[in-house]
Amino acid sequence: MTAFKSSVSLSSINGGHAKAGEVHVIIGPMFAGKTTGLLRRIKSESSSGRTVAMIKSSKDTRYAKDSVVTHDGLKFPCWALPDLASFQHKLGDVEYQKIDVIGIDEAQIFEDLYDFCCKAADHDGKTIIVAGLDGDYMRRSFGSMLDVIPLADTVTKLTARCELCGGRAFFTWRKTSETKTELIGGSDLYMPVCRQHYVSGESAIESTRTVLESL
Ligand SMILES: [Zn+2]
Repeated sequence: MTAFKSSVSLSSINGGHAKAGEVHVIIGPMFAGKTTGLLRRIKSESSSGRTVAMIKSSKDTRYAKDSVVTHDGLKFPCWALPDLASFQHKLGDVEYQKIDVIGIDEAQIFEDLYDFCCKAADHDGKTIIVAGLDGDYMRRSFGSMLDVIPLADTVTKLTARCELCGGRAFFTWRKTSETKTELIGGSDLYMPVCRQHYVSGESAIESTRTVLESL
């Protein structure tokens, strides 16, 4: 059978020597506790004796430059980098080898997220825990976040609490009419909303726009 002849022999697959890593993805709207969940996992890996490192984008300077900080004030030191490819370079090969677990916060911002996760988990044996927004304020796929779902061992979608009714919030709603996708802010600019309030909020903005345009 030709299919048999052209297939890769199983013994050559079994012969792989490197220890395989893992990729875990945490997604959800803003204020869903993604960073808190990430920090909890990183701290628990660290207390079980594994060497951890945390990375965030150097574009995100909301709370602190060299720490990942949650909306409720939890803190963890991190590397603030313009891209993920520079991590190994900054750390140096020897230090990079020692790292077991890498946490990435606001991961949707990194354009090289997919390539980094492939290399670090497939070839370097790292456990990667990635947290970020799955959707932007218009509920479109945000940056590179969804690209890594096919690479993931696990995917966790967290929900927030709708600021208007207290129900489960799946979406991030932008309170302003600013339309740039990457507008970094906190509760001054964004709020978590349920589906019903997302839809009614959007139609309120639409009618305001129509009124303004007709003036
Ligand atoms: Zn609601």
